[in-house]
Amino acid sequence: MLCPHCGSELASDAAFCIRCGAILAPAVSPPDLPPVKDYLTVNIVLLALTALCCSCTPALVTGILGVVFASQVKSLVQEGKRAQAEEKSRLAKSLAIATGVLMGVTALLLIAYLLFFFCFYGVAFASLLNQMSFSALAALLL
Ligand SMILES: [Zn+2]
Repeated sequence: MLCPHCGSELASDAAFCIRCGAILAPAVSPPDLPPVKDYLTVNIVLLALTALCCSCTPALVTGILGVVFASQVKSLVQEGKRAQAEEKSRLAKSLAIATGVLMGVTALLLIAYLLFFFCFYGVAFASLLNQMSFSALAALLL
């Protein structure tokens, strides 16, 4: 940087001018904008849960897309492309929500299916046991 008083070349972090002694104000940093949330952690957690619990669902697709978009947010901010970063951030957030909802729906369907399965086969199994004991009883009696 250049000294605003005498114009001599100075180190960029100089606190005062070594030639004229002028005290230099610290470099004005751009106004602090709120950081762009990348929703990376939540997307990774959701994707991991999806892969663990119910892998064959659309939640896997939204989960992967969410992680991809979320991982681009930070580098876009660093490149100064804040508008694009915010766009990706919004996408990552929507995808995280979509993944969560899809996972919830899938889990409910799975629970309903398992309940149905156990009830249906439970009844069938019970009646089979009944029949067996009846025939065993009949065999004893005859
Ligand atoms: Zn100076």
